[in-house]
Amino acid sequence: MKLSIHKSPDPRFTSYVRRACHFYANELMSKRLVESITIRITFDAGIDCLGCASVAATNDGTKPRKFDIRLHPYKDAADILETLAHEMVHVRQFARGHLNESLSRWKGIKYDTHHTHDYFSPWEREAMSLEEGLLYKFKMAEKLWEVFSGISDPSAPVEHQPLGWRVSETCLQT
Ligand SMILES: [Zn+2]
Repeated sequence: MKLSIHKSPDPRFTSYVRRACHFYANELMSKRLVESITIRITFDAGIDCLGCASVAATNDGTKPRKFDIRLHPYKDAADILETLAHEMVHVRQFARGHLNESLSRWKGIKYDTHHTHDYFSPWEREAMSLEEGLLYKFKMAEKLWEVFSGISDPSAPVEHQPLGWRVSETCLQT
């Protein structure tokens, strides 16, 4: 897999993004498919969502093999790495030919979606169902709780934390 990362919010974070991208690719795709793809990740504060993935180019056989991933940089490490996992599921969908570029066909069936972020579409449901598990595996492989605040060690004892209501107590009593 050829991978480039642009406009990283922190140079120290770039290597984690790189390793996460390779990790997710190897979890999701065959070795042969991973070797055939090129991914360009750009951090972009101008996008109106956490992330997005699109096809940048196809190979001679017109199979999608080059992909653009955009990630919002104003998020914490866990959110960004989970969003990357989500977008890598979309890369697999494009690369395997399950989803077409214009998001109108899924596994050969025509879909009439008007929104790119249609949570009920099969490709979004698949991406959402896998993102958390992929992040969990990467988190365990890298012991990310030793590096980033806001990421906890799942095997550590459970600590008491208040529920964090934002409304006042009087409000809660009514
Ligand atoms: Zn998505």
